[in-house]
Amino acid sequence: MTLYRKYRPQVPEDIDQEDTRQAISRIISSKNFAHAYLLIGPRGTGKTSIARILAKAVNCVSEKSVETTSPVIPCGICDACLSIAKGSFLDLFEMDAASNRGIDEIRSIREHVHLAPAVGKKKVYIIDEAHMLTKEAFNALLKTLEEPPEHALFILCTTEPEEILKTVSSRCQIWTFPSASPIDIRHALLRVMKGEKLEINDDVVDEIALRSEGSFRDAIKLLELFLQTGKQTVEGLREVLRSVIVTDRLAFLRSILQGRKADALVCLDAWSREGTDISLLTKDLLTDLRACFLHLSGVKQEKGIEVFARDIPLKTILKLMRVAAAASLEMKETPISVLPLELMIGEWDERTLPFVEEPKVLSVVEGHAPLDLNVISNEWKQVIEKIKPKNHALASVIRSARPIALDKETLTLEVGYAYHKDRLDSPEMRALVEETVAEVMGNHIRLRTSLGRPASQRGEPRPVQSDDLLHLATEIFGGHVVVEKGGGD
Ligand SMILES: [Zn+2]
Repeated sequence: MTLYRKYRPQVPEDIDQEDTRQAISRIISSKNFAHAYLLIGPRGTGKTSIARILAKAVNCVSEKSVETTSPVIPCGICDACLSIAKGSFLDLFEMDAASNRGIDEIRSIREHVHLAPAVGKKKVYIIDEAHMLTKEAFNALLKTLEEPPEHALFILCTTEPEEILKTVSSRCQIWTFPSASPIDIRHALLRVMKGEKLEINDDVVDEIALRSEGSFRDAIKLLELFLQTGKQTVEGLREVLRSVIVTDRLAFLRSILQGRKADALVCLDAWSREGTDISLLTKDLLTDLRACFLHLSGVKQEKGIEVFARDIPLKTILKLMRVAAAASLEMKETPISVLPLELMIGEWDERTLPFVEEPKVLSVVEGHAPLDLNVISNEWKQVIEKIKPKNHALASVIRSARPIALDKETLTLEVGYAYHKDRLDSPEMRALVEETVAEVMGNHIRLRTSLGRPASQRGEPRPVQSDDLLHLATEIFGGHVVVEKGGGD
């Protein structure tokens, strides 16, 4: 049995969507319980499960239901509830109109609907994919719905309500189901995992929830495929999806937005080698950007997207969406599927993160002028000179770095190479720079670094450093080359 069937909601409290859970309890307890329902909703949202719960509600023989002929919240464990769950209840007739479109089945329903139920309190007819019925079949059904016997309950399910004959739908109480939200789907996945005693990474659960496009069935199917890989991590999910999970995609987008083209290209190349479906990846990236755009426009999104979008200007997202959409179109006409994304990265000319904010005034240390980014930039040479006698190698790292942002006391230095960044990020080196800035400018700052373009690519005149090419080669071809400088520079 598939997990989806095994974990179909059996009683109202199993239902994963809160609204639906509340609605079904309300309907069951309502004085106006109808003799016909039309359940409308996208595929995989659990309409058939709801139909069966209604069948149980009118047939349950638990203790609390003995006293009454009205529907009750089904117990899920009495004979009637259990045989409905198994599909062996004599008074439940299920018909899939996608395979049985004909008038014969509906005629046979018309003939025996008037006979009293064999074992239960009510005869229940569930017609799935009801929009597939032929016109004749609809007309035959209509006659039955016009004068239904007291002991009959009809439940029609459909994904396409506009295809249902108006005269039929007007005889039914209509109940519309929304697509399941990622939160609902998470609820369903956790329910299955608990039942199966599975422990799965949160990342995986989130990714499945996001990717199932509102369908519980798709989500649980995806979970099953994931389990078959035998890998408990996102790696397994990547195998199944042949795409990249959302946290990695967002990191990739961020590297583009920060102008770290080499990082983005290396990442993309690795995915491509792993056999990622590049067209699906592009679609996923567009979905992420769209979510980001919607969030920035005030439409609520997932937490991960909210955090990602926090410091990105709307116009930048729009621009990236546009070039990503163009890349997705170009993909159909290129012999190398990854090429349009590579071009997108190569041609992206906006270096937007971290954002250089308007210079802010720092707290003034006695006797010194307020500090702003211009002041720091102008005095930067002096900082380098002061560091030189303390640590020669550090001075040359600092020389190729440049101050790009100042937020309160935090000064961001852009460095061109990962190797430089590692070095500056060590606590000793950072302390040395902070101390020297205070010495030169009289203000205390906190240093942070950001990996950007090498100075040689910033279009600024600077002395040629002998090891630049080596660093660049290391960046492009991978590997980690540590170069200690010998004498002078
Ligand atoms: Zn029961």
